Amino acid sequence: MKKQPTIVLITVDCLRADHVGFLGYERPTTPFLDALSGESLVVPQAIVAGAPTYYSFPAIMASRYPLALGRDVLGIAPDEPTLASVLKQAGYVTAAFTAANPYLASRFGYEEGFDVFRDFLKEETEPLSEERVNVGSDGWASRLNRKLQEVRPYMGPMGKIYDQLYFEYCQRIMPAAKSLDALRRFPAADVLVDEACAWLASIGDSPAFLWLHMMDPHSPYYPKEEALVLMGHDGLTPFQARYLNSYWNRSDLGPGEMKRRRHDVIELYDAGIRWVDVQVERLVRKLQEVNRWDDCVFAFTADHGEEFLDHGGRYHPPSRLMEELIHVPLLLRSPGIPKRELPKSPFSLLHLAPTLLNAVDVAAPSEFEGRIHGQEFGENREWDGIAISECVAGCTNPFRPESRMGPRVLSVGQSRLKLVLSFDPPVEHLYDLEADPGEQFPLKATAFIVERRHLLEIAREHLRQSYRQRSSERRLQARLRDLRLEWQKPEGKTLPAVQELSPGVLLGE
Ligand SMILES: [Zn+2]
Repeated sequence: MKKQPTIVLITVDCLRADHVGFLGYERPTTPFLDALSGESLVVPQAIVAGAPTYYSFPAIMASRYPLALGRDVLGIAPDEPTLASVLKQAGYVTAAFTAANPYLASRFGYEEGFDVFRDFLKEETEPLSEERVNVGSDGWASRLNRKLQEVRPYMGPMGKIYDQLYFEYCQRIMPAAKSLDALRRFPAADVLVDEACAWLASIGDSPAFLWLHMMDPHSPYYPKEEALVLMGHDGLTPFQARYLNSYWNRSDLGPGEMKRRRHDVIELYDAGIRWVDVQVERLVRKLQEVNRWDDCVFAFTADHGEEFLDHGGRYHPPSRLMEELIHVPLLLRSPGIPKRELPKSPFSLLHLAPTLLNAVDVAAPSEFEGRIHGQEFGENREWDGIAISECVAGCTNPFRPESRMGPRVLSVGQSRLKLVLSFDPPVEHLYDLEADPGEQFPLKATAFIVERRHLLEIAREHLRQSYRQRSSERRLQARLRDLRLEWQKPEGKTLPAVQELSPGVLLGE
């Protein structure tokens, strides 16, 4: 029997497309991947099916739109077929090493199909939130500060000065950190690659599927010091790095004031990407060493991007589906896939899983919504992709079921045009990404009327399909899993609200 090729999927959290060299970034974030792109298919307009992590991964792993089972269902439903479970059934041994992202945990179904599933969450108990300045002592300074905070709303312009002084004061009283390693919240990419290399060395000749999810560019931005040196930015002290992260997390400053530190923060973010690149190279060397590289099907992508004030915001909250949040790098390297760059037309990550299965001659399950791409990659014709992304506005804490029930935001991209729809309040913006790549100027209602109507029809059809094709069985199983987890919570934690238990909520939306 022919030996089955190894499949390696690398996903990077928060990696926007315009920060990798093979898509034109001028800083040296990805020298190894840039070289690899010469023997790969480069997809210049890869679009996630939702953002952030929890709205992106159902498409990557199960080729399904994130809200297809209802807004209140998060992650993969129990027994839903995934890339991993299909490969396992086809005789693959499977392993996942993910860098402590709580939304990729087994409680959301992501262990489905993996023989080895290591999410590092037990070691990392910190919630996935940005760094907060916390001064909790009862000293005279804290008492004085509490008094000042009470009168802060009446300070007028003096309030700004007080905010700045208070921020600086907090920075100085925080206990000193010994190193960037001590400040980092997630295992760095080298930790995951160590695990992956050990696993590869332990599985003999079995066909293998390996998934790594790296968090190095995720905030708070504390890159490896080696990566800062490689980026020509050595000498940054842990104090300075923490200062920058705290500054970037301030809620009392407007975008104009944040801008002053934007460049410095991006340097930290870029160094995180560089570390990913260094570790991907190390992994590829290992694959070569164990004779798995030549026929390996290798995919490198991200779950969403990151905003650096592009539209006035920071990080990656679910709200607007702008390009900096949904446009990600995608590089596919396989002996059966042509080495070229696709035309600049959207390619949804919904199609990634069936395409990877096709590359190793394993049939994709009928439940997968994505189409197989393979043959089309080789044809030198204009690419005509459509990419739909969706999320729930304001759902920044999906551990709270009520946070999941906000209004939907939807974007449809085709060719150079992108339509963004918000439902509450209703807003419809059409952008020409060629003329306005920064999405700063929505087109007038009279522009591209035919194309606008066409994109609206695609959006409507997507919503109709979402309801029509919904599997009530999958939905029910996922909701029951949620409820079981709620009931298992230790005493003192909130039980599900009454409406969460009603059959209407369980079966409808
Ligand atoms: Zn993410």
